[in-house]
Amino acid sequence: MSNRQELLSAAAHTLSRAGDIALCGHVMPDGDCLGSMLALGLALRRMGKNVYLFSPDPVPNQYATLLPGAAGVAVEVPGEYAPEVFVSVDCSVPARLGRFKALMDSSKKIIIVDHHAGGFNFGHIYLNEPSAAAAGELVYELIDLLPVEMDADMAFCLYVAINTDTGSFRYDGVGSHTHRITARLLEKGIPAGYANKKIYEEKPRVCLQVLGEVLKTLDLSRCGRIAWMHLDRKTLHGLNARDEHADGVTNYPRMIEGVELALFFRQLEDGSYKVSFRSKYFLDVNKLASRFKGGGHLRAAGCVMNGELAEIKRQVVDAALIALEEEGTDERHY
Ligand code: AMP
Ligand code: MN
Ligand code: MN
Repeated sequence: MSNRQELLSAAAHTLSRAGDIALCGHVMPDGDCLGSMLALGLALRRMGKNVYLFSPDPVPNQYATLLPGAAGVAVEVPGEYAPEVFVSVDCSVPARLGRFKALMDSSKKIIIVDHHAGGFNFGHIYLNEPSAAAAGELVYELIDLLPVEMDADMAFCLYVAINTDTGSFRYDGVGSHTHRITARLLEKGIPAGYANKKIYEEKPRVCLQVLGEVLKTLDLSRCGRIAWMHLDRKTLHGLNARDEHADGVTNYPRMIEGVELALFFRQLEDGSYKVSFRSKYFLDVNKLASRFKGGGHLRAAGCVMNGELAEIKRQVVDAALIALEEEGTDERHY
C-alpha cells in the first residue's frame, strides 16, 4: 500500500471512531478549502458525527451563496470546547489557521489534509500530497473510504474545490486523476454549468471597479518578464470594497506576453502586505515565496511582509530577478 493510501486509511479510521470533529480551513478562505471542508463535513454528519466547521476569516459572499452548508461555518472560536479530532484542510502551516490554531492544539488528534509544496507535519496524521491539484481530490478519496455514499451536495462542494484551485482545469497540477475524479462528481448530476457561471461569469460590480484601479498600478521590469500591481486600503475602502473583491486580480498580469512572473502586493487591514506570486511556465514560486517566510505551490504562492510598499516591492522584485536568472530563460517547458 502506498503511503498516500495508508494515510487516507488512517484518517478514515480515526474519523469513523470519533464522536465530534472540528474542520478548519485557512485565512482568506478560497473555493478549495471551503468546498473540501463542507464536503467532508456533510459526509461526517451523514455518519452521525457532531461536526463543527470553522474559518479564520468570513466565507466570501460568492461561496456563501453557492456552497451548501456554508452558512454553518463559524468564524469565532467557541469557549470551553476542545475537539476530539481536528482536521486542518488545505493549510500548509499552522499560522494559516489564524485564531483556530489554539483550538487545534487543544484537540486530542490532529489530521492534516493538504496539497502544498514544502508544507511540514504539524499533526498526528499528515496527509500532504503536492501531486493533488486540490485538497478536494484528497477529500474525494477520503470520503470514498468512509461508510457513506457521496451525494450531490458533497459532489458539488468538491467540484467547486477542484475547479477553483485549478483555474477551471487549466493549471499545471491538473492530471488524469483530476479529470477522473471530476467525472465521478459530474455523474452525481451536479449543476456544473451553473457553478461555472457563478464562479467565473458573475461578480459584484465592485470587483470590476477594484480590478480597474489595480490595473492602473501595473508595472513591468525592464526585461519584461516580471509584472506587478498593488492595492492599498485607501483605494479598497474608497470603493466600499472588501478584500474578497480583489480575489482573482492576481492572475491578470501573467497573461502579458513575455511575462513569466506576476506579483500582486495587497495591503491587509493591519497595514502589512500580502504578496501573491503567479508564474507561467517554469519559475518555482513556492521556493521564491519561502525566501520571505511564505510558500504555496510551484506556480502559485504567497507571503506576508511588513514595511513600506516601495521597499517590499524592491526586495521581492530583486529576488525574483535573481531566481529568473538561476532558473533559466527557456519558456517552452512542455
Ligand atoms: P494566494 O496568492 O493567496 O492565492 O496564494 C497562493 C498560494 O500560496 C495558496 O495555495 C496559498 O495557500 C499559498 N500561500 C499564500 N500565502 C501564504 C503564506 N503567507 N504562507 C504560506 N503559503 C501561502
Ligand atoms: Mn487554498
Ligand atoms: Mn488548495
